[in-house]
Amino acid sequence: MKSALYTALAFTVLASPALAEDKRHADAHEHGHGMFQMVIEDDHAVIEMTVPAFDIVGFEHAPSTAAQRVAMAEAAGTLSRPDVLFAMPDDAGCAVGQVEIGFGATGGHRHEHGEDHDDHDEGKHDEHDHDAHDDHDDHEKEEENHSEVTAFYRLACDNPGALNRIGFTFFEAFPNAEELEVVILSATGQSAGEVDRKETVFEIE
Ligand SMILES: [Zn+2]
Repeated sequence: MKSALYTALAFTVLASPALAEDKRHADAHEHGHGMFQMVIEDDHAVIEMTVPAFDIVGFEHAPSTAAQRVAMAEAAGTLSRPDVLFAMPDDAGCAVGQVEIGFGATGGHRHEHGEDHDDHDEGKHDEHDHDAHDDHDDHEKEEENHSEVTAFYRLACDNPGALNRIGFTFFEAFPNAEELEVVILSATGQSAGEVDRKETVFEIE
């Protein structure tokens, strides 16, 4: 029953882009749009990326089929290769250290399937009670099920000063991803901007 509900909610979200758009600010999460933050230090760089699960696996509910579990495992494998997803100058001499990938929920915990349904079991099964129950169902349908994927990478770099650009082959790996907001912090300051499927290279100022 739970998986059937998840499926129905996912279908609702996918089939109603206008609705998802309206709720963008409520959940601070827009499908296709992720965050990429990188801090460059003396001998290493740290990347933290947060992307809607939709961009990574195409759904945001708990995996309920073998195909969905395979999709998640494959996505985790792909995400575990920052050296493939983010092209950096060879001169920087960066090597992948720590990698942490998380499939987590954001709005997903907001599903509170009313335990207060028990209130209706007081022997008052009249027309009015049925109306109230229907209203409750409508309210549940309005709630969304969102989840995000987080990726953390630590890179050891021989010469971080040579990190002047990043090529986001990330977009080739994940066709649902449309845009990443990029923030880079280094000793020389902050660079911020966006990359998308057309402009895949971020120049670090
Ligand atoms: Zn979402």
